[in-house]
Amino acid sequence: MKEKIMKVWKKRPIIISGPCSAESEEQVLQTAQQLADTGKVDVLRAGIWKPRTKPGLFEGIGVKGLPWLVSAKKQTGLPIAVEVATDKHVEDALQFDVDILWIGARTTVNPFSVQEVADALRGSNVPVLIKNPINPDLELWSGAIERLQKAGVKEIGMIHRGFSNYGNMEYRNAPMWHLPIEMKRRFPDMLLVCDPSHICGNRLKLQSVAQKAIDLDFGGLMLESHVDPDNAWSDAKQQVTPERLKEILESLVWRSENTTKEEFVTALATLREQINHIDDELMTLISQRMKVADKIGTYKRDNNITILQTNRWNEILDKAVSKGELLGLSKEFIVRYFDAVHLESISHQNKVMNDEK
Ligand code: PEP
Ligand code: MN
Repeated sequence: MKEKIMKVWKKRPIIISGPCSAESEEQVLQTAQQLADTGKVDVLRAGIWKPRTKPGLFEGIGVKGLPWLVSAKKQTGLPIAVEVATDKHVEDALQFDVDILWIGARTTVNPFSVQEVADALRGSNVPVLIKNPINPDLELWSGAIERLQKAGVKEIGMIHRGFSNYGNMEYRNAPMWHLPIEMKRRFPDMLLVCDPSHICGNRLKLQSVAQKAIDLDFGGLMLESHVDPDNAWSDAKQQVTPERLKEILESLVWRSENTTKEEFVTALATLREQINHIDDELMTLISQRMKVADKIGTYKRDNNITILQTNRWNEILDKAVSKGELLGLSKEFIVRYFDAVHLESISHQNKVMNDEK
C-alpha cells in the first residue's frame, strides 16, 4: 500500500467526511476544498453507487463521478473513499485508484454480495471499511470481516452506523452501543469508526453521538458534509456544511484510553476494587435469589401451577421501576436487568419442575 495512505489509515483519530452522494463535479470539488481548508479531515468520502431502500430515489451518479473524486484528490491532497457493493464497483474504483473502499450496511447483510466484493478484492491492497449490517446481527458483521480476511484483504476496519429499529423516533438508526463494544472485544486491534450521521438522521445530536463514540475509545469518525446540505440529493437532513463540521470537530474532547499519571492510576485502582467487591456481593445475592426461586419451583411443581404468573411479574416490575427511579437507575436499565433476572429465575424453576421428576 502507498505510504501516504498507510499513514492516514493508521492515524488516530481518523476523520472521514464528504457528501452522502457525489452529485456534480462542482459540488464534489467545493466540498473537498472546504473540508481540506478545515485542516481537520483526513479522507474525502462520497457515495457513487447508492443502495436505496426504496426505488425512485437518487441511486448515485455512477462511474461518471469517479474522475470528480480523482480531481478532488489532486486539488486537495485528500485520499478518497467510496462505497462498493458489487465486483464491478470494486473493479471501477480500483481502476480510478480509490484509496479506501467501504461496504455499506445494506450490503453487509448479504453474504453473497460480501463474498462477491471479497473475491473482487483478491490481490489488491486497498483498505476496506465494513459498516455494520442494518439489523443488529454481529455474526453477519463478523462474517463479512472473515470473508474479506479469507480473500487476503489485510487492512480492514469497521464502521458503526447504528441499527434499524422500527418505531424508534430518537435515532434514525439506534446506536445499540453494546454491539460495537462487543465487536471491539472480538477484534481488539481493528480500526473502529463511528458514523454519527447515519445514526442520527438529523443534525441535532451529531456532536453528542460523536463524543460518546470518542468516550468509548473509537478510532475515528465518518461524518457526512455537503456545501449545500439542505439541497443534497440524498440524506439532506443529516448533512452539515464543512464549516459546521469544523465546529463539531473542535468541540469534541479527545481522550486517551490510558495514562501513567500516578494519582489517576491509584484512584482508579481503589475505585475498581470497590466495584469488584460490589459485583461479588451482587452475584452472591442473585445466586441466593435463584435458590429461593428453586424452592418456589418445587411448590409450583407439587401443586401443578404455571411458572409464569403475569400479574406477579407486572407487580415486581412496576415496583422496581419506581424504586429504581428513586435510586438514580434508569427505567431502561431496570427493565433490562429484571428481564434478565426473571428469565434466569424461569430457567431455574423450569429445571426443578421438568428435570427432577
Ligand atoms: C452512506 O454512507 O451514505 C450510506 C449509504 O450509509 P449506510 O450504508 O450506513 O446506510
Ligand atoms: Mn448517506
